[in-house]
Amino acid sequence: MELYIHIPFCIRKCAYCDFLSAPADADTIARYMEYLGKQLVQTAASLRGKRVETVFIGGGTPSILRPEQLSRLLAAVWEHFTVDAGAEVTLEANPGTLARAKAQVLVSGGVNRVSLGLQSADEKELRLLGRVHTYRDFLRSYEILREAGIWNINVDLMSALPGQTVASYERTLQSVLALHPAHISAYSLMLEEGTPFFEQYRADERLRESGGTPRWLPDEESERAMYELTGTLLAEHGYERYEISNYAKKGFACRHNIGYWTGKEYLGLGLGASSYIGETRFCNTAQLDEYLAGDFTPRDVQQLSKNDCMAEFFYLGLRMSAGVAKADFTARFGLRAEQVYAQEIPELIEKGLLEDTGTRYRLTDYGRDVSNQVLWRFLK
Ligand code: SF4
Repeated sequence: MELYIHIPFCIRKCAYCDFLSAPADADTIARYMEYLGKQLVQTAASLRGKRVETVFIGGGTPSILRPEQLSRLLAAVWEHFTVDAGAEVTLEANPGTLARAKAQVLVSGGVNRVSLGLQSADEKELRLLGRVHTYRDFLRSYEILREAGIWNINVDLMSALPGQTVASYERTLQSVLALHPAHISAYSLMLEEGTPFFEQYRADERLRESGGTPRWLPDEESERAMYELTGTLLAEHGYERYEISNYAKKGFACRHNIGYWTGKEYLGLGLGASSYIGETRFCNTAQLDEYLAGDFTPRDVQQLSKNDCMAEFFYLGLRMSAGVAKADFTARFGLRAEQVYAQEIPELIEKGLLEDTGTRYRLTDYGRDVSNQVLWRFLK
């Protein structure tokens, strides 16, 4: 089982972010940690016997917690769950929120992987994104983690940002590559409704419709060039693209995320966190006041049908470069994938989006480029 723990607090809301996260005062954070601890103890007792293979403390910005809060949380995980000795334990962190003492607490608490949200090495782009840190903060945090002995570091990057050019994106990639992180996640900016960025985008669209030239976001050609540059440069530097947006040095693919993509069970603790246990999906309340009143009742409980499980297994598996092993599909569901998707598989192969290697189905390069189009085919 994978364990996810959500810390929904940030110093300030970024201009593009629609995650369940917000700034909060120290008292609220302290109360949240108290209730998170209660949920952890209760849930662990009800799931006794399930082994935890990976732990991911995400957010929000978990690294804004005080060292003693992090220390207590990590100790509770090890005390109440049966965590594998070699478990991957990741903490999401923002540059500028990690001091030496905190890094030491992470190491003593069993954290062996840190995911650093850099997004861009360009100060102007960082400011536009509303990030609270500078590139220098990132370098300092990176150094602190390495000094503390954490070498398994992921760096999150974003492309197609407002004001970004192919040249500035290349500078970001080159700056990060010079540090040799074990893992890089590179996503294109997603415009989410309700964010300040979305409003800017709407204004740009209105300009386009009235015959003007949008000024805010890079054009499609530049966006495409950034996407291709990511693949080329990272491959040249020895990173394997093991999932649509994730690249790793050999042996450093994120085991927690691979768990999601290969249909493993996961338990989510904390505000709004989702779980998938025994073919049932459910989530925690997303209302902070309810959570702080100790309301841990599962919400949106959904018993997945066999068809749902097969579709999820297939399309999530296709996100991985290795694709879906035919034998794994059959072992899990007692049916052959080509029987279940007798229409979809030949059609996608015919269009050059999917390939049959004999033992696996996987996306072609073209299929990866338009992956959403392919993956939606399985969501009937
Ligand atoms: S730090 Fe991350 S979670 Fe927090 S507001 Fe920014 S993007 Fe959202």
